[in-house]
Amino acid sequence: MIGDHPHDVELAAATGAQGIYLLTGHGQKHLAEVSAMLRVWVASDLNEAVTWIVSGRDPLEGKREEIQKAAEIIRSGGLVAFPTETVYGLGADAFSPLAVARIFEVKRRPHFDPLIVHIADPDHLGRLVQEVPIRVRKLIDRFWPGPLTIVLFKREEVPDLVTAGLPSVAVRMPSHPVALRLIEEANRPIAAPSANPFGYVSPTTADHVREQLGDQVDLVLDGGACEVGVESTILSFLEETPRLLRPGGLPVEEIEEMIGRVEVGRTNEETPLSPAGCPGTTLRGRPSSSVNVKAIPAQQGETVGFLAFRESGGAMDQPIEILSRDGNLREAAANLFAALRRLDVLGLDLILAEPIPEAGLGRAIMDRLRRASHPDEWKEKQEYAP
Ligand code: AMP
Ligand code: MG
Repeated sequence: MIGDHPHDVELAAATGAQGIYLLTGHGQKHLAEVSAMLRVWVASDLNEAVTWIVSGRDPLEGKREEIQKAAEIIRSGGLVAFPTETVYGLGADAFSPLAVARIFEVKRRPHFDPLIVHIADPDHLGRLVQEVPIRVRKLIDRFWPGPLTIVLFKREEVPDLVTAGLPSVAVRMPSHPVALRLIEEANRPIAAPSANPFGYVSPTTADHVREQLGDQVDLVLDGGACEVGVESTILSFLEETPRLLRPGGLPVEEIEEMIGRVEVGRTNEETPLSPAGCPGTTLRGRPSSSVNVKAIPAQQGETVGFLAFRESGGAMDQPIEILSRDGNLREAAANLFAALRRLDVLGLDLILAEPIPEAGLGRAIMDRLRRASHPDEWKEKQEYAP
């Protein structure tokens, strides 16, 4: 059955037929209403739909092997660029901090931003967040898959790098069939920002991605051109009243119709760059990586912990966290938030952090250390000193 209204999809499901949903003008508008529970193929126009039927094939048939390969890459910690209905995403296993660190490395962002985690089944939301309120269930029943991102308090297992140290995580179920199949095959949630380097516009075709990121990505899945321009609407449920953090493809009026009034705009706590993700213990920069750790500017009787970039030898009495034994920036980024947290809970007077070379991922790491420190710290750029 071919149709461009959600009712058509429901009718197809009720009769046991396979539904093909058209993204012609009307279909695009109502895409978010197509229930997540129903298997449906999305076609850009009637021509494409008829071609599928005449060829008698699963519309993703030609892509099956490529998607399996992409899923294998995700499972083994690699990066895959994949199409969603909004833009192309740069995806990695959301539960692997090392894989997520590579996203930031490839994007060359000078800071860590929280990423949206993509799932292929609404029931998997529970693996990522602590609790799913009834009103959120109502919303996702109606609007997933589609351009609605939900922010809820995260479960501890969700790596801090995914949320840039925030206690909450943003989750969405995209509607692009290639994205859904990829997440299903990978059998885990995929964290993904848009697949462009920092400062470039978001890519809407596989060619854009190849031009901008080329061989830095393990695989670019081609799913045709995205339906351009609509980012997902981001809705946060951390407070009593839901809060619209970013307007997007799903109009806030439709949300309010279901769950009542929604607050608009970010609060300080929800701004990713707020101190919310910083440790409570005072953090200072250690003068230089070559300085002996014993020669530390701590006061008498002060308890001090160390955040070291790499292994420098020598035993120490004080607690120390080493970000990467051999000075690997990707590994350091993957360990950063957890290491800060482990030091923070020790109730020390002071944490001294070793400067990180400000090249590649080192810039984002230093940005986070600066934000977590007293404003007078780290004034100078940390030059790379091997
Ligand atoms: P993009 O991947 O380009 O669509 O951007 C993701 C957006 O989601 C950014 O604006 C992030 O700041 C926002 N975001 C992701 N996680 C959170 C979170 N836990 N709380 C608030 N905003 C978030
Ligand atoms: Mg972007």
